[in-house]
Formats: sequence, C-alpha cells, structure tokens
Amino acid sequence: MTDPKAYPWPKVMDRLSRTYGRGDWRVPYLRTHAEDPFQVLIGTILSQRTRDEATDVASARLFARYPDAGSLAIASPSELEPLIRGTGFYHTKARVLPKCARAILERFAGEVPNDLGRLMTLPGVGPKTANCVVVFGYGLPGMPVDTHVHRIANRLGVVRTDTPEETEVALRRIVPERFWLPLNPVLVQHGQNLCRPIHPKCPECPIVEFCATGIALREGRRPPRPADAPARRRPAVARRRGPGRPARGR
Ligand code: SF4
Repeated sequence: MTDPKAYPWPKVMDRLSRTYGRGDWRVPYLRTHAEDPFQVLIGTILSQRTRDEATDVASARLFARYPDAGSLAIASPSELEPLIRGTGFYHTKARVLPKCARAILERFAGEVPNDLGRLMTLPGVGPKTANCVVVFGYGLPGMPVDTHVHRIANRLGVVRTDTPEETEVALRRIVPERFWLPLNPVLVQHGQNLCRPIHPKCPECPIVEFCATGIALREGRRPPRPADAPARRRPAVARRRGPGRPARGR
C-alpha cells in the first residue's frame, strides 16, 4: 500500500481541481459553498441510494413546500411520498423525514447540530449524512465518504478497506485536516467522470502517476485492488444497520 504519510495530497488536489474547473481548493470552503444545514441534512437523506438528478428534483419539490424543520415536522408520509418519489426507499424516507424534523425541534430547539455525535442521534442519519452536514452546512472539517470516495481512495492505494465506514476512519487518520473540506467534492466529481466504477479512464487521468491502480495498469501489472470491482459490503456491517433504516451511500 502507498505510504499515506508521503502521499502528495497538494499535487492531487491541484490537478483534480484544475481538471474539473473547481478553482483554488485552498480558498476557505465556507466562503463560497455555505448551504442551509437543514436542507443539506434532508437533501443528503434523500440522496441515499439515489442518483444525483433524482435527488435534485425531489429536493426542489420537497423544499418548495417544506423548507424548514417546523413545516416538515407536521407533514404526513402520504403528503411527502409524491414529492420524493424517484428517490430510493422513498416510502421509508417519507416516514423518516418528519421524525428527523421533530427530533431537531424537540431535542435541539430547531437548530441542526454541527457535530457528528449529536447528528447521528437523528433518525435516518448515518456517518456520511452527518459528515455532509458538518462540511457543506457548517464549513467545518468532516470526512463524508460515499461510494466514489471509498472506491477512489482504495484505487489510489492510500487505504485498504471494505466499506465506506472503514474508509472514513482510515482517511481521518491519514489525511491532513486542511484537505478534509475540499476532498469530497473533487473526488466525487472525479468518480463521476474519469474514475468511474466500471472501466476507469486511467490513460486520461491527471493523477495517474499518484495512483497505485493506474501505475499498475500502465505497467501491465495486476492492480493492488481489481480496478473494476465494485466495493464489497461485509454482511456484519449490513446487520449493524437497524431494520427499516435507509442504507447509507449512493
Ligand atoms: S489512474 Fe485510474 S484508477 Fe487511478 S484515480 Fe485515475 S482513473 Fe482512477
């Protein structure tokens, strides 16, 4: 495995940011990206097991009628289902969302918490959703790990993990904190474009020389982790999720 301490994160961030026209990743994230924490939270729950386009449509419909915790808390599942149909597990989400809104009102005086511990006590909120709120809602250091970040981190060779949850723990340990905020958006964009789940476009990749998989493929060697294999989820992790709770990750 690549030595995480020697990994050239600044070069990787520079090249990916330039490739995807994201501007300077060193600019403080909150200055240009702050979003409403409540809508980040609910939008991320909607995004679980859902394509981005469907999430955007459902979020726009939902927030047009229920823009805050007060309005969503008194919505019924039958009112919500037509608005969020098209997202994965929408029946379950239609029951979870009002519960989540009520918990914010009753336990946190209507303010979405800004730390992982309190966020993960809310219905429907797991590590990825909680980290998204911390990063995108509050501009604080967090490490949201979805399937793109999990897959790419393993392909780069900086972690060797089986689940996004394990990847989050590993990345928090090895990635310097100053990269946490901008890392997720740039890796997600890379995963949607060049480093796709199937057939990554390694010859076109701007960070191929920093990628254990890309280097191995270029040299005709077997990659350290099969390049096209989707991440496996271990049964023990699936069992830890409670019944009826939406799966995390997209
Ligand atoms: S070289 Fe290939 S596997 Fe590595 S990050 Fe680039 S596209 Fe992904």
